[in-house]
Amino acid sequence: MAKQLVLRGIVQGVGFRPFVFRLAQEEAICGWVCNGATGVEIHAEGAEENLERFVSRLQAQAPPAAQIARLEVQPSAWQAYRDFQIVDSQQAPVPTARISPDLNLCADCRCELLDPADRRFQYPYINCTHCGPRYSIVLRLPYDRGATTMASWPLCERCRAEYENPANRRFHAQPVACAECGPNYRLENGGATLAQGMRAIEQAAALLRTGQIVAIKGIGGYHLACAAENAAAVAALRTRKFRKEKPFALLARDLAVASGLVEIGPAEQSLLESPARPIVLLWAKRELLGVAPDQDRLGIMLPSSPLHELLFAAGAPAALVLTSGNRSNEPIAYEDDDALRRLAGIADAFLVGERPIARRVDDSVAIVRQGRPALLRRARGYAPGAIVTLPATEPILALGSDLKNTIALVVEGQVFVSQHLGDLGEADANRAFAETVCDLMAMYRVSPDKVTVVHDLHPQFHSTRFAEQFRPSATHAVQHHVAHIASVLAETELLHERVLGVAFDGTGYGLDGTIWGGEFFAGDLTAGFNRIASIRSVKMPGGDAAARLPLQAAAGFLADGDALDQFGARRLESIGLAGRFTHALALVRRNVRCIESTSVGRLFDAVAAIAGFQREISFEGQAAMWLEHQARQVAPQAAYAFPRFDHRPLFAASLRDRLEGRSASEIASAFHAALAAATADAVQELAAQHGCATVALSGGVFQNELLCEQISALLETASLRIVFNSLVPANDGGIALGQAALMALRRRR
Ligand code: ZN
Ligand code: ZN
Ligand code: FE
Repeated sequence: MAKQLVLRGIVQGVGFRPFVFRLAQEEAICGWVCNGATGVEIHAEGAEENLERFVSRLQAQAPPAAQIARLEVQPSAWQAYRDFQIVDSQQAPVPTARISPDLNLCADCRCELLDPADRRFQYPYINCTHCGPRYSIVLRLPYDRGATTMASWPLCERCRAEYENPANRRFHAQPVACAECGPNYRLENGGATLAQGMRAIEQAAALLRTGQIVAIKGIGGYHLACAAENAAAVAALRTRKFRKEKPFALLARDLAVASGLVEIGPAEQSLLESPARPIVLLWAKRELLGVAPDQDRLGIMLPSSPLHELLFAAGAPAALVLTSGNRSNEPIAYEDDDALRRLAGIADAFLVGERPIARRVDDSVAIVRQGRPALLRRARGYAPGAIVTLPATEPILALGSDLKNTIALVVEGQVFVSQHLGDLGEADANRAFAETVCDLMAMYRVSPDKVTVVHDLHPQFHSTRFAEQFRPSATHAVQHHVAHIASVLAETELLHERVLGVAFDGTGYGLDGTIWGGEFFAGDLTAGFNRIASIRSVKMPGGDAAARLPLQAAAGFLADGDALDQFGARRLESIGLAGRFTHALALVRRNVRCIESTSVGRLFDAVAAIAGFQREISFEGQAAMWLEHQARQVAPQAAYAFPRFDHRPLFAASLRDRLEGRSASEIASAFHAALAAATADAVQELAAQHGCATVALSGGVFQNELLCEQISALLETASLRIVFNSLVPANDGGIALGQAALMALRRRR
């Protein structure tokens, strides 16, 4: 008998066709396999029981990096094939086959890389069908060598033989190459080439040993590296990169080196060693001077590319700072000329790789929460993997939020979320945003006049203006915090569940034109959401500037209530509530340059300012992270009173505590307990009132692990299902998915 099979999911560029070929040999199946535009297509002829085994083994024994989302099996006409073949890719009108994310170096390739007898010994671009770059080199679909940045390196005879041999691990491995025929690395400085190939890597390792900063071309862009244990080198990197305090990520040579720096449990280990090789935030065992000031955790990753392995083999320091190659908030540089220009004042030398990068893909950042990975930044190793399937037949383009932007494209119901693109206020990030829109639309052949565009409600967002120009006739605005809640529902596939949504974050444009960020909603994706409660609103002086200045946020909250009246100016001055604070307070009292706000992000900032964090923040969320760090330094304190999110008693108590000399840690702890208790109380009351059995919590504030743990603990005995983000970030990186889900389901109303 004969069957026609179509497999969808991540099935291209992961060694699937050779796997099918071998399976067909073993089960005496004739016919063919090819990469179609919608996935892998198979025509299989054979005895009934063989066919049955063939189909079940296809699913059970698929290659490690493959993810089968759907398998369709249909009877087909017997065509009396005499053998089984891998045939050329077909071009079809709508490619919905998912391109694989970039994969880390596999164990087999690693052995060859370090084996002096292997012909790819020390070759920095070694790869096979189980490993290597994908998304960062693909120019268009379907995924074939000619459609990648490897197109300009013709295969040598030996590579070609491997590429064409179905029994070989490199059969149709599109980026396959060797030192003879493929690209290589060189070390450059000031336009001069200092060394090439392994010599270049050895010299780079030597420079790193002596405390120099080296720009290194990676999979999705340039990194800046220096020895993590060399405080002077780390300090120099901070100065040159204009990065004052934001933590640096580390690349550890191996698990043993990583274990010397951070606590690693089984879940953490498997995340560190997963094919995506994200940066994982882990509890630090010791401090590395200047690497992550005021943090309890260190961001660590393990080698993901052959180049990383070779650097360590050549004697690079066992722990390297490895941070994106840019200045301050700019996007990571990925083109050679641009990198050499932009990083000229930062790097002492450049390790330039010849293989072009098709698009920038930053490192992903993840954390382990209750034994499960949760992504904080979704990029290399994950993007552009489809996240979920939505009931949408027409294409949807969701433009996300302006901060931590990602975009999402829905094609035939599959949601593809882009890599993290950064803050659109930056010109380069804005360009990357426009490029990625075009890139994804072209890759999936979605024509701009057929797509519905969803954007944030904020009228001044770059993404909103982009939407208006891109497709004025078919754009829809979605409220920011509703999108946060929708992101959790989409990724947990609660598409029709009525839920209580809790959105706590920094800023978002509210339906009433004020700044929201401490909101409760009831509803579902189809019917929409109603705002049913929020924290007590205050007048925030200076609008957006308050987000950078904790003292300004403190003025906003303290002006609301009589806490200040009880203390003279001199006493307030003694705890730093003067200068900028007094000025901001005057603005609030005259109601000048103020905007109404219910932001929990600002609530954190205000409490941080009272507890002692009063300088201007140098990265988003810094004051809130400092407060969480403080709270972890002491045993849990009794909660401040915070009745129904009226913060006046909370501020009165924390201000008094500070004036009486209570420590920042104790104040921070009492505040966390207060917010967790108020939230848990409100959740139980509102869920009962509005008939919700499920609670979805999202927004940047829920990156605060301490708060999440405390809320979860308080709700443990309540018969409610509690869901958080994990596949997409709880921060604004998840907004695009939420927007897409709201649009897809709104159409069904
Ligand atoms: Zn491999
Ligand atoms: Zn070759
Ligand atoms: Fe947000």
